[in-house]
Amino acid sequence: MPLTESQLADIEAQRDASAATRRPTVPALEEKLFAVIPLLDHGFIRVIDYMGDDGAVVQAARVSYGRGTRRVSEDAGLIRYLMRHHHSTPFEMCELKLHVKLPIFVARQWIRHRTANVNEYSARYSVLDREFYIPEPAHLAAQSAVNRQGRGAVLEGDEAADVLALLRDDAARCYDHYAHMLNEDAEGEPADPDRAGLARELARMNLTLNTYTQWYWKTDLHNLLHFCALRADAHAQYEIRVYAEAIIDILRAWVPATYEAFQDYRLNAANFSGAMVAALKRMLAGENVTQETSGMSKREWTEMMTALGK
Ligand SMILES: Cc1cc2nc3c(=O)[nH]c(=O)nc-3n(C[C@H](O)[C@H](O)[C@H](O)COP(=O)(O)OP(=O)(O)OC[C@H]3O[C@@H](n4cnc5c(N)ncnc54)[C@H](O)[C@@H]3O)c2cc1C
Repeated sequence: MPLTESQLADIEAQRDASAATRRPTVPALEEKLFAVIPLLDHGFIRVIDYMGDDGAVVQAARVSYGRGTRRVSEDAGLIRYLMRHHHSTPFEMCELKLHVKLPIFVARQWIRHRTANVNEYSARYSVLDREFYIPEPAHLAAQSAVNRQGRGAVLEGDEAADVLALLRDDAARCYDHYAHMLNEDAEGEPADPDRAGLARELARMNLTLNTYTQWYWKTDLHNLLHFCALRADAHAQYEIRVYAEAIIDILRAWVPATYEAFQDYRLNAANFSGAMVAALKRMLAGENVTQETSGMSKREWTEMMTALGK
């Protein structure tokens, strides 16, 4: 369901307002504040608030009286050092608050990240909108044959059409029954005066997992990076990955030096086990090391080769 006129007006009013502050602000993130970043078919992310910037990370690391910043290159160097050595607490000095609209099955994965503050739209108090996530045909894939937690080839032709029709029909039918059990008209009055209607907290159990929910979600920069590293990874499900990737875009605007360090030392980095380092040393010394002579399992060996681009 697109945003209503009154919701759009609220967003515009917030975007038009401004306040003087002594706190550091980030112009590139101010530009994004409150704006809707559309994701999937009905989802979105909005930045509601933030605290701190790259300077706040540096300030905390140096425990300084002033902004703590020196030359930009020196500050970026310190941030890279902190990231490289997992000195996490300076990153906890920054916070980001988001308004997120997401399918319930994505929310179930997201909520596992416990180091955040969450307030979800109450389906005990309010009626959920008639909105379901229906994947684009390009994302409608078969079960992967090699990864039990992943997808394989995209479904084609009649099978794809059949699956899409089932997803749409089942979600719509369950929502129709939800609405019937609630027995409420647009004003919240009984649609059929002869029926009491079921409580909202019970009627919702009939909804499909692709129904959209919403929450406010706030976390600090350290735990946000952890979330992004896990959920923007190729192993994460596409539907949560698009949210993580949108958050990484926000990071680039908000904390550019932290974003660069995060790319280098987390997203584009690889971890090598003790056995991997030993095998790499032997390889660099000119030895022809194979999986069998490496002492590694086939899986660990494949992971190392993938990290090396082999
Ligand atoms: C690709 C992928 C597949 C997954 N598959 C499954 C699955 O099949 N089944 C499943 O149940 N989950 C699964 N998960 C969820 C995963 O196991 C984590 O629960 C989730 O990623 C949250 O990570 P976290 O605990 O590190 O984050 P947070 O909860 O934000 O915690 C951040 C860090 O804080 C510390 N911490 C937080 N709370 C505690 C605590 N109570 N005790 C000790 N330390 C704490 C830990 O160091 C933790 O790493 C999957 C996640 C991913 C990314």
